[in-house]
Amino acid sequence: MDRYAVVGNPVEHSLSPVIHGEFARQAGERILYEKLLAPLDAFDETVAGFFAASGRGVNVTVPFKEQAAKWVQRLEGDAVSAGVVNTIVDRDGAWVGFNTDGVGLVRDITVNQERSLEGRRVLLLGAGGAARGVVRPLLAQNPAELTVANRGVAKAQALVAALEDWARETRCGACALDEVTGEFDVVINATSAGLAGRGDLLAATSVRGAFCYDLVYAAGAAQTPFCAWATGAGAGAVSDGLGMLVEQAAEAFRLWRGVRPATAEVMALLRRR
Ligand code: NAP
Repeated sequence: MDRYAVVGNPVEHSLSPVIHGEFARQAGERILYEKLLAPLDAFDETVAGFFAASGRGVNVTVPFKEQAAKWVQRLEGDAVSAGVVNTIVDRDGAWVGFNTDGVGLVRDITVNQERSLEGRRVLLLGAGGAARGVVRPLLAQNPAELTVANRGVAKAQALVAALEDWARETRCGACALDEVTGEFDVVINATSAGLAGRGDLLAATSVRGAFCYDLVYAAGAAQTPFCAWATGAGAGAVSDGLGMLVEQAAEAFRLWRGVRPATAEVMALLRRR
């Protein structure tokens, strides 16, 4: 059987083996998907060892996504501008790095939740690896406005400065989280503040009536801190990032196996867990 793995530290919590196991079952593909704990100072050796032992592909999770972009032999797709890799594919002996987060996010919003981003005023919170992975696919949807707000403003400014070539008609701007003003149609939280229980990242007026999407996801029917806060602050609708998690995995599966798996059943399964 072809072997795949998710590499991270920690990695025990990862849902990727369940998701890819379900994709393989549905598609009639025979694969083995495992969790690979890499020591913090030994990502390169761990991944090289996995491929040397006939591994066919790897998903990369915290904290190795930037290191993975340096380790691969070339970058393709959104990974080129992001400099962040969450999927490694063995292409005829060459290790190629992709970033499927943006495709996953946009697909969850526009296909699963049937919300257009075209012409919308979009606020993106955060300027870390996840934000870098999603900005270009967001711009490809042609929003009217894309504002990136980060706790440390310099990172938001650097991210926006790198977008010039992709922006087309979208007005792009950067500011600090505590400087956000104005109204938005869509607010996407790509910070990790929720992992520390923090959801109140900006003034309530900025989310009132907006569709608020949190990249962090919650178990079962629970709400993430950001979704709970946004609901209380008058958001028009909220969503956590479980759909994105499944869609980014589906894109990785397609890159590895040439088959795009159906995702609705897997999302429902994870919601029930
Ligand atoms: P990262 O590179 O470590 O970046 C973290 C970001 O969060 C930075 O912008 C940081 O701001 C900000 N931040 C952290 N604590 C904060 C706080 N208390 N208040 C305000 N801002 C804070 O992490 P990442 O890789 O971008 O991941 C971000 C989140 O996205 C994680 O929770 C991850 O699990 C999630 N994610 C989900 C999916 C999915 O499929 N659903 C995919 C990828 C990532 P500073 O720069 O100022 O430190």
